[in-house]
Amino acid sequence: MKIRVGMGFDVHRLVEGRKLVLGGIVIPHSLGLLGHSDADALIHAICDALLGAANMRDIGYHFPDTSDDTLDMDSKLILKQTMALIASKGYQLGNVDATICAERPKINPHVPAMKACLAQVMNCEEDQISIKATTTEKLGFTGREEGISAYATVLIMKD
Ligand code: MG
Repeated sequence: MKIRVGMGFDVHRLVEGRKLVLGGIVIPHSLGLLGHSDADALIHAICDALLGAANMRDIGYHFPDTSDDTLDMDSKLILKQTMALIASKGYQLGNVDATICAERPKINPHVPAMKACLAQVMNCEEDQISIKATTTEKLGFTGREEGISAYATVLIMKD
């Protein structure tokens, strides 16, 4: 059994007039994340962790933010395609452990829905996906509510 680990990190800016999409679901909030796609920072961090674990470059390499194909793209599709990319090298998911950094809104009430959504997209058990949330104690850009960041660690494996 070959086991590999990967990490991912992503940030998107919070602005007015955008939906807040995180972990594949829409979270009610006065601000949303700005980006070329739907700007789902959690999914982007998970994709980068998966690609890193398989040593397959990064999300920007496979899904450039200069392409019309990825404009307003649902990040669930990016995640689905990323799973297909690692499967093409024979890897399957072991587990994901992720952390979202946001001052507001409260993320924890939405974690069960995010896990259910991501498990469906990644074709795995909810138990394979851990999502945690923290504020940054009002410090830095997340603390000032200028943006939201996400970190992900994944383990992948093949026989
Ligand atoms: Mg991103």
